Amino acid sequence: MALAKEYVESLGWDNVLFDSSHDKCYCIKCYPASWSDMADAGGQKYVIPRGWARIGLHVDAAIVGVNDIWNKWIVTFHGTSLLAAKSILHNRQFCLPGDKLIDGTLLGIRPGHIPDKKHIYTSPTIAYSGLPVYSTKHDFNSSKNYCAYTVQIVLQCRQKPGSYTVQGETVNARTTRLCPFISNDDIDYYTEIRGSLVAYGLLVKVI
Ligand SMILES: [Zn+2]
Repeated sequence: MALAKEYVESLGWDNVLFDSSHDKCYCIKCYPASWSDMADAGGQKYVIPRGWARIGLHVDAAIVGVNDIWNKWIVTFHGTSLLAAKSILHNRQFCLPGDKLIDGTLLGIRPGHIPDKKHIYTSPTIAYSGLPVYSTKHDFNSSKNYCAYTVQIVLQCRQKPGSYTVQGETVNARTTRLCPFISNDDIDYYTEIRGSLVAYGLLVKVI
């Protein structure tokens, strides 16, 4: 958790974007191997993001109030780049391909996904959302212990039930099973509805 915090602080993102009441660490010490691999939210199972640390994000009270997201919405993960994640947090909603990010660049469609279809992709398992094709790898040099690390980020989200389509993996995994708990055939969710997703945690993996 300390390294994850140091990394996020090094990004220099505005403090108002964060809410430490949503912090949670899933390292082996904080979330032991004997504890459940799955959890339930909004009536649906998701896979515990073992090995990641969640830096809590501020969630707007009006969004919680209108949708009762803590009780009714499911948990999913969204792997993305640092710039797209920052844009999502600044815009206070998700971006669809074709949207301009905060630096003015266009959010593109990842190769392998259907061209011309503007979708936001999520998954109930970080084994899928955390693939480097979604969650870009970054270098990080700690100024505290002077070690060099590789870091990935994934947004942990609440997602409105019934607002998305479930499909199989699109990374050409073929017979390689990507997650022990979710089959490759049910691992990729997509939606066109920006307002059906709320990010409440910035998951960080430091290796
Ligand atoms: Zn921990």
